[in-house]
Amino acid sequence: MMRIIMAKPDAKDQGADASSSSRDHRKLGQELDLFVTSELVGSGLPLWTPRGTIVRQELDRFVWEMRSARGYERVTIPHITKKELYITSGHWEKFADDLFRITSREGREYALKPMNCPHHTQIFARKPHSWREMPQRYAETTMVYRDEQSGELGGLTRVLSITQDDSHVFCREAQVKEEFFRLWDIVDIFYIAFGFKLRVRLSFHDPKEPEKYLGTKETWKNAENALREIAQERNADFFEAPGEAALYGPKVDFMATDSIGREHQVATIQLDMNLPERFDLVCINEKGERERIVMIHSAIMGSIERFTAVLLEHLEGKLPTWLSPCQAKILPVSEKHLEYATEVLHKLRESGIRAEISKADESLGKRIREAKMQKTPYLLVVGDEEAGAMTASLESRDKGKIGVLDLDDIAARLETEIRMRS
Ligand SMILES: [Zn+2]
Repeated sequence: MMRIIMAKPDAKDQGADASSSSRDHRKLGQELDLFVTSELVGSGLPLWTPRGTIVRQELDRFVWEMRSARGYERVTIPHITKKELYITSGHWEKFADDLFRITSREGREYALKPMNCPHHTQIFARKPHSWREMPQRYAETTMVYRDEQSGELGGLTRVLSITQDDSHVFCREAQVKEEFFRLWDIVDIFYIAFGFKLRVRLSFHDPKEPEKYLGTKETWKNAENALREIAQERNADFFEAPGEAALYGPKVDFMATDSIGREHQVATIQLDMNLPERFDLVCINEKGERERIVMIHSAIMGSIERFTAVLLEHLEGKLPTWLSPCQAKILPVSEKHLEYATEVLHKLRESGIRAEISKADESLGKRIREAKMQKTPYLLVVGDEEAGAMTASLESRDKGKIGVLDLDDIAARLETEIRMRS
């Protein structure tokens, strides 16, 4: 059901324009060798290189660690489904234009998933759940596919294959507030870590057009009051936007302001009273009765493609050390220092640091310039003196020359910085 991700409705590009500058994520993506598109595969279908895949995995791991600590479990679903699933969910009709359809040899109709919620309902529905087992919290980082018009495709911001860091909580109405709090904590920690400022939009229904929404007036009033209370209790910088709700329930949408003053719609937490009706999802309550449950949809990054684009432009490509595909570049002064450089490489890798050697086939100056252009967080230059003393001359991208340090010190220093995600 989540339809947040696309740049279209809310990513107001205020302030400076990054499209022709050193901040342009398409340019940075090429310089840092993160992703590529191929004419043969098609536009809007980015391919992630080994380096880009490290960035995706590190981002996902950051979110997953926070989810896991809050009781989420991973699930896995196929990327296609019989059309009956979407007829039940309502997507076959409401999402008709955006669906990629597939017909099997025997004429059965399938579709590529444009979202994960309908599949996830079928995991919840596999067995009856007692109230003691509620909530059930499922998370999955996976691609969804939407048939966007090709004229609009470009870079990572408009794509046909979108990776969502998706989650669905199946819970009782009385548990909604606590679940929103848990998710909101994750959103705050995640965006503050990158230096974004967050503003919150409460996306409510438009009381003048009740026919646009599913559910009763009373249900909507209660749900929206609950979200308003949560926003107040968290002292959030929020505003209300009537008419921005989803068909099935109100949403909390997060807007991040980047380093050049542009605001992007990023994370979302959505309350859904509709899909549980359509799929008849219940738990067995304390009295032994079937009790209708609610769903909470959420994505912290929204889409990894879009978030990566926003992050690259926000940081001008200078990813923090923990997120950098190459965290330390080792530069032997000449060929004869290669052996010691290899020793340094093993030492750093043993400490879990992603390190590479820049072989001495070019001048040292040229190799240093190259490593800096790739925005490598740390450079280690090693020559005669360093090899003799088991040291390296350390230079930081952000702090400049640090000096000659023991190898053990360097490894410990970097390892701590990476572990703390500082
Ligand atoms: Zn969903």
